[in-house]
Amino acid sequence: MENRVYNFAAGPSTLPLAVLEKAQSEFLNFNGTGMSVTEISHRDKAYEAVVREAESLVRELLKVPDDYCVLFVQGGASTQFAAVPLNLMHNKVADYIVTGNFAKKAWEEGTIYGTANKIGDSSDKVYTYIPDIDKLKYTEGADYVHITSNNTIFGTRYPEFPKCKAPLVADMSSEIFSREINVADFGAIYAGAQKNLAPAGVTIVIAKRSLIQDPLPFCPTLLKWKVQDKDGSLYNTPPAFSIYMAWLVLKDLKAKGGVKAINEIDVYKAGLLYDFIDNSKLFKNNVVKKYRSIMNVPFVTGSEELDAKFVAEAKKAGLVSLKGHRLVGGMRASIYNAMPVEGVKALIDFMKKFEVENA
Ligand SMILES: *Cc1c(COP(=O)(O)O)cnc(C)c1O
Repeated sequence: MENRVYNFAAGPSTLPLAVLEKAQSEFLNFNGTGMSVTEISHRDKAYEAVVREAESLVRELLKVPDDYCVLFVQGGASTQFAAVPLNLMHNKVADYIVTGNFAKKAWEEGTIYGTANKIGDSSDKVYTYIPDIDKLKYTEGADYVHITSNNTIFGTRYPEFPKCKAPLVADMSSEIFSREINVADFGAIYAGAQKNLAPAGVTIVIAKRSLIQDPLPFCPTLLKWKVQDKDGSLYNTPPAFSIYMAWLVLKDLKAKGGVKAINEIDVYKAGLLYDFIDNSKLFKNNVVKKYRSIMNVPFVTGSEELDAKFVAEAKKAGLVSLKGHRLVGGMRASIYNAMPVEGVKALIDFMKKFEVENA
């Protein structure tokens, strides 16, 4: 489509064009109601169907067991940093593996509610690796172990997940629906939708029901997962438009063959980009190879001046939002599910040209 750029933003981020067009086509009249989906009461049957279908698609695409709830809540992933201890920290002790900025924030939030043990920390090497999960000292009797499965800013991910006695809780904001997972291995999973699923405004929570029946007494009602579960994410007004968009994206993902199919494409896209970077004389990715993310790919030239030139010239070429996070510098290409293969190829072609011109 004319005038659309390839958008490598880390979040909010690019969405499938077909989904945007579908939303546009029915924006004034949703499903024969004569109203925009943004105008319908969340108690209207036409809207309730959206929430229920979105939930069943999450269940189907991630094979969520029946004894887990699937919630659509507000406040972003950052609010879940508090909701996790508020729902799960019964014994007032939990373990955290700190593999990036968001993991650190989650841990800091955890310390408000009890003893949050930082049992792993990769800040010594600017979060370019994931600590060896088999060598960590998990706390006996911990209420949960918290991880950030994909580290958006630093471009790392867990190739495998810790096998610990305590329930594993994962922030999957920047990778949910990009690889198959076994939900039963987790006590809870949460993800802000604005990276790989929908516009900002909705956060998905998947939690084992038996773990969430006894939130801390001062947990705000809206943060009680069991309350959201009982009311099917409709306790109060939900982020209606964002859930609607998530529903469209989930339908689109199902039509494309689901998580396994999109994962093959994601692995292929990331492989193209890492291969090019590894063979480049100019660009470098500093992440330990086995921990490389397939969603967020940071890279540098080694010169701040050249990095800035790259970002500016890429923008002129229709490749936007490539500036790295302020904590890392350089560049970062976020290549979520909705980034087409052609977008990654266009980026590589541009990098090749830039390398020749600036070598
Ligand atoms: C973006 C992000 C967050 C923060 O999400 P908000 O919705 O802005 O609160 C937390 N964790 C990870 C892994 C992220 O990528």
